Amino acid sequence: MRIVVLVKEVPDTYGERTLHLETGLAERATSDNVVDEIGERALEVALTYADAHPGTEVHVLTVAPAGATTSVRKCLALGAAAATHVADEGLVGADLGLTAQVLAAALGRIGYDLVLAGNQSTDSMAGVLPAMLAEHLGVPNATNLADVTIEESGISGTRVTDDGTVQVSAPLPAVVSVTESLPDARMANFKGIMAAKKKPLEVLTLVDLGLGDLGLDGGDLTTARSIMLAVEARPPRTAGVTITDDGDAGVRLAAFLAENHLL
Ligand SMILES: Cc1cc2nc3c(=O)[nH]c(=O)nc-3n(C[C@H](O)[C@H](O)[C@H](O)COP(=O)(O)OP(=O)(O)OC[C@H]3O[C@@H](n4cnc5c(N)ncnc54)[C@H](O)[C@@H]3O)c2cc1C
Repeated sequence: MRIVVLVKEVPDTYGERTLHLETGLAERATSDNVVDEIGERALEVALTYADAHPGTEVHVLTVAPAGATTSVRKCLALGAAAATHVADEGLVGADLGLTAQVLAAALGRIGYDLVLAGNQSTDSMAGVLPAMLAEHLGVPNATNLADVTIEESGISGTRVTDDGTVQVSAPLPAVVSVTESLPDARMANFKGIMAAKKKPLEVLTLVDLGLGDLGLDGGDLTTARSIMLAVEARPPRTAGVTITDDGDAGVRLAAFLAENHLL
């Protein structure tokens, strides 16, 4: 079985994350970029299955700027056998539609039995790319699973919703997205880090994928499918309201919560 795990490099959630005030793009140069944690959890699901099923190949796939090699190598150090990195100037500012199309083409080239993804990235948080991808691939899509069981012929799992839990199953090939309920990723050890240097990491362009005409030429965002019309910096945080208890703090707190529709 070949399990392809979709990982995204994102600005570190715990770091300062800013948008470029002209282009609306995430400022990647000024932030620490890391493998999105939810992607690492999806990778852990694949590696756990591979540990118990010799002959399983875990392959990591990302559409990311050329500078994301370190993040891809980290996934190889965690235990993935191989990786594919689609990097192309024509993908600067790529929206969901273009990213899904590029990932579908790359998956067609790599081959897959199961595609594992996070349910939502931490930077743009769309939460729809796995579904868009399954549509392109014409395969079932089991989304937002809080646990996953992988078998040779299919997957099953639980989706937790506000209205209860849903048992989901699908035959392979399929696209599955997982939630933060899945276990943390393992830590990379020295042996893994050394082995990662020798593992196959293929860097592809849009032309390599036969999508040369799809690129956003030279970053001219006017050709993007969805573009950021306006962006403004988040207003600086103001000091909060301080309530000193002169015996009526409870009443004043309740009034503050009511005023701010927090009740
Ligand atoms: C601040 C910000 C706002 C944005 N707003 C929009 C917008 O309104 N409309 C729009 O079309 N695009 C938007 N984008 C672009 C969008 O982020 C990218 O197209 C992105 O690759 C897919 O969106 P997502 O991460 O939100 O997808 P999600 O659906 O949240 O991603 C779910 C999972 O899909 C996989 N995945 C997502 N992206 C990649 C990738 N590049 N490589 C490999 N796997 C991946 C990961 O496993 C991820 O956990 C925005 C980007 C930023 C930084």
